[in-house]
Amino acid sequence: MRTKVLEIDPLNINIEIIKQAAEVINNRGLVAFPTETVYGLGANALDPKAVAGIFEAKKRPLDDPLIVHISDISDLDTLVEEVPPQFHKIVDRFWPGPLTIVLKKTDKVPDIVTTGLETVAVRMPSNVIAKEFIKAAGCPIAAPSANLFSRPSPTTAQHVMEDLEDKIDIVLDGGKTEVGIESTVIELVGERVIVLRPGGITLEELSSLAGEVEISMPGPLDNTPGKYPKHYSPKAKVVLIPDTRDQKEKTLHVIEALGNKGKVFGILAKQEHAADYKNANVKVLGPVNDSKICASRLFGLLREFDSEGVDVIISESIPEKGLGQAVMNRLRKAAGPLENFLNFFHPHN
Ligand code: AMP
Ligand code: MG
Repeated sequence: MRTKVLEIDPLNINIEIIKQAAEVINNRGLVAFPTETVYGLGANALDPKAVAGIFEAKKRPLDDPLIVHISDISDLDTLVEEVPPQFHKIVDRFWPGPLTIVLKKTDKVPDIVTTGLETVAVRMPSNVIAKEFIKAAGCPIAAPSANLFSRPSPTTAQHVMEDLEDKIDIVLDGGKTEVGIESTVIELVGERVIVLRPGGITLEELSSLAGEVEISMPGPLDNTPGKYPKHYSPKAKVVLIPDTRDQKEKTLHVIEALGNKGKVFGILAKQEHAADYKNANVKVLGPVNDSKICASRLFGLLREFDSEGVDVIISESIPEKGLGQAVMNRLRKAAGPLENFLNFFHPHN
């Protein structure tokens, strides 16, 4: 199939384009669309055949469940059996927005969406194009990020095309996404709020409303976000430099070591350090105290390094405050298990 890229202005939405996209959904097709986090790859969440197309296009393993997107709170009636006590307080504050909530599902949600789990992950995005598109489709939209499985998530329509051209029907091009990193995924158990994946809503924001929040670190066999140790990854190897006082010296040390090995490398640096890495391919993640900027640039910069063909990305860690938590979660996944790192430096060990 030939993928159509349809430009759409979020400030002046062309309803004819939205209708075209909705029609594709109603004919079991696939539409990539912007949300405030990253671009999603959408299909009718209530149609298992349509949803199967998402897994096929992305080459996503069939045991990685999808998030279902809604445009109105009443859409929940079809999807979930019940909501826990603190649900309304939380969605009143954070919906529409980058927060996904795992809830007990109804029989109407096909198994392929939840990979057989009893729960379904639901989110109401705030991006106006996403909202209009979901409303026009008239059904909940199952949508993971619109990238090939394990590649960095797409924050522009061009990123979507790099990965999925001619595998999907339409890309709604609404420009660069605002947050740049995926949603926070939470589970509500009684009065407890458990974070399964850090993302666009920060832990500080959640706990200011809900008190203490717990963080669940999934193990390799758990059916939760993050179970794939290498995820969100560029083709290049990622070497993470810890956020310590001597970070700059450590980075310079790794630069020298890689240079001696004849590796082609790039550096993802804090704005405050960038000028010190002379004659190197440096990209600025953002100012150390502006985790929003860092989040919005992260995936695009990883993809830029890939298109330049670097072998290794040396990335400075940033403080785990605000969106810094989600940024570091993605960078750690991009770096992969520690063994990769050690094998890289000591291939014969
Ligand atoms: P993606 O849309 O690619 O960012 O991935 C969606 C994430 O939400 C995945 O990492 C899933 O594991 C997670 N997720 C979806 N459904 C559930 C669920 N029922 N329980 C826990 N996590 C889920
Ligand atoms: Mg994804």
